[in-house]
Amino acid sequence: VQVIDTVAAWRKALDVERAHDRVVGLVPTMGALHRGHASLIAHAADDCDVVAVTVFVNPLQFGPAEDLAAYPRTLEADLDLAAEHGASLVFAPAVEEMYPRPIATSVSVSGIASRWEGASRPGHFDGVATVVTKLLAQAGACRAYFGEKDYQQLCVIRRLVADLDLPVTVVGCPTVREADGLALSSRNAYLTPDERVLAPGLHRALVAGAAVLGAGGSPDHCRQAMAAVLTGSDPLDVIYAEPVEPDTLEPLAAALLPGASARLLVAARLGRTRLIDNLGVTRACAAG
Ligand code: AMP
Repeated sequence: VQVIDTVAAWRKALDVERAHDRVVGLVPTMGALHRGHASLIAHAADDCDVVAVTVFVNPLQFGPAEDLAAYPRTLEADLDLAAEHGASLVFAPAVEEMYPRPIATSVSVSGIASRWEGASRPGHFDGVATVVTKLLAQAGACRAYFGEKDYQQLCVIRRLVADLDLPVTVVGCPTVREADGLALSSRNAYLTPDERVLAPGLHRALVAGAAVLGAGGSPDHCRQAMAAVLTGSDPLDVIYAEPVEPDTLEPLAAALLPGASARLLVAARLGRTRLIDNLGVTRACAAG
């Protein structure tokens, strides 16, 4: 892979690709790449002529008490994984390159960014929206790949791309999980062995809640089913566990009609680690 660390050289490299009529697939990441990121890179490689990965731990999206300093940084291994799955360009800028002066501009997506992660991590989505807008502005016309693992983030990015007329097609990719259901995350590395045993409880709660909604049960019953799984695990400190409308992320108001869909969102703290997960559910249409 070719590694680039300045905005000017990155822009030029992607312009060259487009000048040859090659479709650029962009995969923005914070590094510490795992099989979840690899699947985004592989999706991009399937759809696009050239895959460009960005690796940047964005200070703007971390709260003052969050894990910015501790966040894993593994650039050499990231380059190998990116190349192995089909990337040929990697942008790994220093913080000073992305933010050469204190940034005075902030991108803020109202409504969809205010609940759930937005409510529990003040400023987080402004930081995400601002850095993603910069990354997309730097990259230019492309297809950009994001994981459903961060479902609310994906909704926020779709909205900012539509509102700002960015020349980008946003592609959402399914969550990659461990065999026991735990969604892959760079933050899983923080879990102690005991916490690792409890962590798949998030996915089990989502599956239990989805079964209720899929059978036509009410949002309250869905919440109870999720709580029944989560409260069984004492050290799991639930931040939210909610069935929501899949597009607006408003709390789900009523049971699903046949053929209708919802999303289940969950966030919990396990020791010093904050975990999130989500699952889609569609109620089957009546047979016949
Ligand atoms: P991050 O490096 O955590 O900022 O994630 C970079 C991209 O990878 C985001 O679009 C995430 O949603 C996506 N991603 C992270 N974990 C997974 C996973 N387990 N499955 C699929 N995509 C993921």
